[in-house]
Amino acid sequence: MNRLMSNSNDEARDREATSAERGEHGEAIHEGGCACGAWRFVVSSEPDRIGLCHCMTCRKVHGSAFGAYAVYLAEQVSMSGATRAWQSSADGRRHFCTVCGSVAYMAFVNNDEIELPIGAFDETGFLEPTYELFCVHREPWLSADGRREYPEDRP
Ligand SMILES: [Zn+2]
Ligand SMILES: [Zn+2]
Repeated sequence: MNRLMSNSNDEARDREATSAERGEHGEAIHEGGCACGAWRFVVSSEPDRIGLCHCMTCRKVHGSAFGAYAVYLAEQVSMSGATRAWQSSADGRRHFCTVCGSVAYMAFVNNDEIELPIGAFDETGFLEPTYELFCVHREPWLSADGRREYPEDRP
């Protein structure tokens, strides 16, 4: 976590200086941040996958019926601003803005993935979930609408 945070400021500045809207391989760059703006991020590629999660922890941290996350490799995400994290599972660490308390991102001790909440992005309409996790907890008034459904976590 600290490794990521300490690298992120420099990487974000480098990207701003060298590329306005495209990554080094021509990918679109997207930005986002928390509600107050103290924590910000830039992604340099398309996400590996995008999904909804109906697990009880996602429900509670978002204060909503589900969480929606775009999953990136840590090296594809640059961040600036402080977050704090708590251990939400054996491997999961959920970060939040220390100023406004917004959900920031989820990281893992056993892999290099970063999950960014779709709602944290500055733009709308370009991240479409293709699967849903922990559907055992899905509200009955929601439908999968063609997305792949998993009763619990991805196998
Ligand atoms: Zn904030
Ligand atoms: Zn979840």
